[in-house]
Amino acid sequence: MKRIYLDYAATTPLDERVLRAMTPYFTEQFGNPNSLHSFGREANVAVDGARSKIAELLGAEPSEIYFTSGGTESDNWAVKGAARMNRQRGAHIITSAIEHPAVMSPCAQLEKEGFSVTYLPVGKAGIVNPDDLAAAIRPDTVLVSVMLANNEIGTIQPVKELAAIARAKKIPFHTDAVQAVGSIPVSVKDLGVDMLSLSAHKFYGPKGVGLLYIRKGLRLDKLMSGGHQERSQRAGTTNVPGVAGMAAAMEIAVSELDKNYAHIKSVRDYFVERIQNEVPHVIYNGDPVRRLPQNANFSFEFIEGESILYRLDMEGLACSSGSACSSGSLDPSHVLLAIGLIHEKAHGSIRFTFGKTTSKADAAYAVETVKKTVETLRAISPLFAEFKGGAVNV
Ligand code: PLP
Repeated sequence: MKRIYLDYAATTPLDERVLRAMTPYFTEQFGNPNSLHSFGREANVAVDGARSKIAELLGAEPSEIYFTSGGTESDNWAVKGAARMNRQRGAHIITSAIEHPAVMSPCAQLEKEGFSVTYLPVGKAGIVNPDDLAAAIRPDTVLVSVMLANNEIGTIQPVKELAAIARAKKIPFHTDAVQAVGSIPVSVKDLGVDMLSLSAHKFYGPKGVGLLYIRKGLRLDKLMSGGHQERSQRAGTTNVPGVAGMAAAMEIAVSELDKNYAHIKSVRDYFVERIQNEVPHVIYNGDPVRRLPQNANFSFEFIEGESILYRLDMEGLACSSGSACSSGSLDPSHVLLAIGLIHEKAHGSIRFTFGKTTSKADAAYAVETVKKTVETLRAISPLFAEFKGGAVNV
């Protein structure tokens, strides 16, 4: 059976060039970079090289890059680390209503520790208004965390403007750039942020490795304590193959960004246009322009996202209802509720995310499959029957 993967926001396949860059560090050069002997020194050279390369690509200094186990750890460290470190100064945090659970959940944990959290609204387009941030800042605000690009609806936040507002008040600013890196240009210097999280598996690198950029001079409470790795700030033996893979993946992503952006956007735009023209009663969620090139999120009225997903999967089409991390829960997505969708419409939403090898023919197959699936499900939907004024046989 034909299988088409349209879930690149959940994860991406490893680029073969990345695999080749990683392979030696599993076998011949397996040393622990903290060991003083030649095996360790060899591994350490690889880690240092990766750190310098990544720093250069992000517009940072190598000493500002801290390797972690991925986006979730980086987000947790930034949010909890900055909040707890500054507890004496105040206990107020500002974030947005559409953050990934990797930021939302640490904020909820901090609320239990006595912090108060302001969740900035995003309006119908799914974008934070900088004036709302300026108005929310209090004398006791110790952290602002707003994501660069949203994982569900792909909207790109005005992080440069937001970070400037926080900086003027000397408040540390964190951004979760997990979905953005590899899709749009990302430079910490240009954005003016104090902390930035990213994760290699979102840009054709390995899973289980990421980093937190921490601007020189900013101190965070530790999340992991133990050994003296990462300049004593993040304990745990360094994932050498992972780090080497992340550097290779980032180098490829940056050098091929323009080409991939143009291709992915054209396939996505073709898909979106056809769905909007050929499937009745759909809502295109998020801002039509200020969004990642790979993201299309639709609400199909009168039917359930889970049923659509299941049937599309049977036809070989892999996509997502809400974010991969929150699927499995029956709650409607907090992101879709934040942009004003009512529960039923949020429930009927599907995220399609395209990748560098997705072809226009794949997108065409996806359109046909979605059309057929939506038609079949609506034919048995009591809500749709009610809408059309027909009898409701339930
Ligand atoms: N932040 C965002 C915006 C994400 O999309 C994800 C993963 O889906 C994460 C954080 C978590 O990253 P990781 O899977 O590396 O833990």
